[in-house]
Amino acid sequence: LASTTISATALALAFATAQAATSVEERVRGLVHKMTLAEKIGQMTQAERQHATPEDVKTYYLGAILNGGGSIPKENRRSDWVEMIRDYQAAAGGTRLGIPILYGADAVHGHNNVLGATIFPHNVALGATRNPQLARAIAAATAREVAATGIHWTFAPTLCVARDDRWGRAYECFGEDPELVSAFAGPFIRGLQGERLDGNNLAADKVLATAKHWVADGGTTYGTGDEGYAIDRGDTRLGADSLRAVHIAPYLPALKADVGSVMVSYSSVNGTKMHEHKALVTGTLKRELGFAGITLSDWSALGEIPAETNRARIVRAVNAGLDMVMEPEKWRDFITDLTAAVEAGEVSMARIDEAVTRILTTKFRAGLFEWPLPPLATAPDADHLIGHPAHRDLARQAVRESLVLLKNAGGLLPLDKKAKIFVAGDHADNIGLQSGGWTIEWQGKRGSITRGTTILDGIRALAEREVTYSPTGEGAAGHDVALIVVGEEPYAEGMGDYRPLPCSKCQPITLAKSQREMLARVQVSGVPMAVVILSGRPLMIAEDIGSWQAAVAAWLPGSEGAGVADVLFGEQAPSGKLPVTWPKSLAQLPINTGDAKYDPLFPYGFGLTYGAPSSIR
Ligand code: BGC
Repeated sequence: LASTTISATALALAFATAQAATSVEERVRGLVHKMTLAEKIGQMTQAERQHATPEDVKTYYLGAILNGGGSIPKENRRSDWVEMIRDYQAAAGGTRLGIPILYGADAVHGHNNVLGATIFPHNVALGATRNPQLARAIAAATAREVAATGIHWTFAPTLCVARDDRWGRAYECFGEDPELVSAFAGPFIRGLQGERLDGNNLAADKVLATAKHWVADGGTTYGTGDEGYAIDRGDTRLGADSLRAVHIAPYLPALKADVGSVMVSYSSVNGTKMHEHKALVTGTLKRELGFAGITLSDWSALGEIPAETNRARIVRAVNAGLDMVMEPEKWRDFITDLTAAVEAGEVSMARIDEAVTRILTTKFRAGLFEWPLPPLATAPDADHLIGHPAHRDLARQAVRESLVLLKNAGGLLPLDKKAKIFVAGDHADNIGLQSGGWTIEWQGKRGSITRGTTILDGIRALAEREVTYSPTGEGAAGHDVALIVVGEEPYAEGMGDYRPLPCSKCQPITLAKSQREMLARVQVSGVPMAVVILSGRPLMIAEDIGSWQAAVAAWLPGSEGAGVADVLFGEQAPSGKLPVTWPKSLAQLPINTGDAKYDPLFPYGFGLTYGAPSSIR
């Protein structure tokens, strides 16, 4: 691992030195000067891989390609990814100006689309570790796996500040406190990109980062929106001061770390869709905060701007300051309509040139002109980087540090290795359930969807006696301890929102009926119960926890489930602290630290350890 990284880094330095003679500014200016309108608008366009061929890249001068979550080439081997991206880059290289494409992927908890990649815990779990340097190491490992597949760019980290657990993307936030999210922003971005992007080409094992979703995605209010229940893509209603203090704050360290791109949010601020919010995109982000990279739209997000025609929506978005538009399928319409709008004077040439200048500058800084394929992609031992043992060790360590011990009556935990252990619950033995959304598939999926260890694997490896496992909790009698694993079904977007209406895709944020029945079944046996909760946010357990001896919040740990067992057996003592407030009931939502009436089940920062009465940080 080290030798691959070092030799490629040395190569990077050699290239950087060779290029230093002409400044990036001069090279970009020269290119923009030569470009036709079609070439410029092509640069501003990002299409999805299934809807754009290499030939399209050549014909339309496309600036960027992405794969949506779960959109994978061929057999999803590393070589399939490299081959696909090489074909796109070859097509881009064959255009008049030979400008390489940027290929972007959602590597949001590891390189999560790729089979066998290391899946790290989701951000909410990283927030619980209170360890930004660990997050930096995770981001660096992720960058290595991403670069090894030929990809230069990830749409991470999400810098949302989760103010309401009913929002189905709360798990993507490092927590509810802007200070906590801010503490992770810089290290995470540096882990992906390296110490500084400004003026330097990316090292061989680094990728461009994206801070998302600008801004206030985690603050959407419950009870507004069209149907009155939408939270994802909803509206954040806040005064200017709170907007800054809560939601803009984490972007300051992100910009300081030279984050290469910022993705704009589907949501609105005070009724205006962010994709047409010129004051916040151009005024605040670019002018006031000095962001010099690429502003990128979210997936088909222009469609949400309330205007009559596609062209009118494009005009509003581009004039608001969007530099690149992620138009996965209908990118041809984007090109046609933006071209017409520029020709009609609805979008100025100066605005187009500004967008293209940012895109090209970022491409130069990322070293794309020297290496359309990251050098790691062609390193002889690159296959080993995907799911590398060192990365898996790191993920397992992150799992250990992220567990929050909520209750431990009578010191039931740590488990005795010689005890007769009963394990229950689907979640105990399921890589898909423990990984959540953005894992191989966009919304995630139950089952053995990729390689890793389950919690049960970890328990069996450490226990010195045979372990009984029953997914439904039948037959706990006669055991010394029952370990019950409960939690949410996987979701990434849209499906996770809590809505009081009948809604087949929504998640209840409570324990499912079958899980309560399982808990009741085990309780009848009289065996002491330790309950592990796998979820992207606090579940409503106030009425249940009284009958459990121990409770552990394990979040969405990812592929290294054995890390959960390490803590249950005391190989490492629990040290995680709640990154979000744990409410007593749905009626308390939204509830956040610092609220005037604050009476949660467990406060923000709560977390016990073994052998100590309690600790709140
Ligand atoms: C999500 C983004 C993601 C994008 C590309 C969108 O639906 O909101 O977070 O980066 O898809 O997959």
